[in-house]
Amino acid sequence: MKNIQMVDLKRQYEHIKTEIDKGIQEVIDQTAFINGPQIKTFATNLGGYLGGTNVIPCGNGTDALQIALMALNLQPGDEIIVPAFTYVATAEVIGLLKLKPVMTEVDPNTFMITPEEIERVVTPRCKAVVPVHMYGQCAPMEEILAVAKKYSLYVIEDTAQAIGATYTFFDGRKAKAGTMGDIGCTSFFPSKNLGCYGDGGAMYTNSSELAQKLYMIANHGQAKKYHHSVIGCNSRLDTIQAAILNVKLKHLDRYSSARNSVADAYDKAFENLGWLRTPKRVSNSTHVYHQYTIQLTDARDRDQLKVYLQERGIPSMVYYPVSLHLQEAFRSDEYGVGAFPICEDLCTRVLSLPIHTEMDQETLEYIIETIKSYK
Ligand SMILES: *Cc1c(COP(=O)(O)O)cnc(C)c1O
Repeated sequence: MKNIQMVDLKRQYEHIKTEIDKGIQEVIDQTAFINGPQIKTFATNLGGYLGGTNVIPCGNGTDALQIALMALNLQPGDEIIVPAFTYVATAEVIGLLKLKPVMTEVDPNTFMITPEEIERVVTPRCKAVVPVHMYGQCAPMEEILAVAKKYSLYVIEDTAQAIGATYTFFDGRKAKAGTMGDIGCTSFFPSKNLGCYGDGGAMYTNSSELAQKLYMIANHGQAKKYHHSVIGCNSRLDTIQAAILNVKLKHLDRYSSARNSVADAYDKAFENLGWLRTPKRVSNSTHVYHQYTIQLTDARDRDQLKVYLQERGIPSMVYYPVSLHLQEAFRSDEYGVGAFPICEDLCTRVLSLPIHTEMDQETLEYIIETIKSYK
């Protein structure tokens, strides 16, 4: 059996090697390593792909979230609502800026924040909510936007896992993940659906005023070189990474369908296995399957399956093993064990299976048959 991986970036590169190598060589020939023309081209191309939004590239997805919060004129102690079941970055930047993360439960079927939970935890000090488009499909944005409007909350979408997913509003209008709230934040970490060959990230916004602010904050708070109007930071996308992303963006829709083919095969193969729950597809969003995450009966079962797969050369990952409210960094009197039972339970039962753009039929069948013969 060949070496099975969660994500096969090597084979993906081999298929686009000529274009990628050419793009990288151009940057080197131009020695335009910082703020080269490829950055602007990429921001324009991605903005077009997303339906005409402003795209502000930055150093990584975590920076994108931080800069988004910095752009909203928040005061220390202001509260920001986040799901407790997410990657640490979503809440980390809130703490870093001396804001207060207010955590919520998630829907046990979609792993995502719900409008009801936002209403349950909202206080007069809440200034923003950060829905996370978990594993590759959109959170219920129509309802979230309505609740946010009711309580005057900014909406920052964490779309690091859902680039390319399309949401459909009740009236039929469609929008790409990250373009519905005030600011969308994404990551180009290599294993993300649109990944570069190092770190990278971006912010999206439909407001030209916010776009200007985000751009300024990411560039040392300057609109004009050596004139600093606000405290900013230094968060840049490398030109080489932008060159790579310009190539890969052209393939993004094909990559999303390749991931969907794997997910379709898993769904079909596992639908009648009583001991395994396949991930729910929501009706008003497409899925780009950053992860294909199944649920097992309990922790023992999940851990046993993981070992069983590993012994047969199949990797699997637990995203995420600890709910944010139980992470040492976020411990508080408010959030002890039992504060968010759904999140805590999910952490013991989820398992993400290999899914990527280069999965061949033989490997896919091997993974499926191995899982089916587990019990
Ligand atoms: C990857 C990820 C981030 C952070 O992106 P980096 O580029 O690694 O900083 C933030 N939120 C979510 C949900 C992610 O999956």
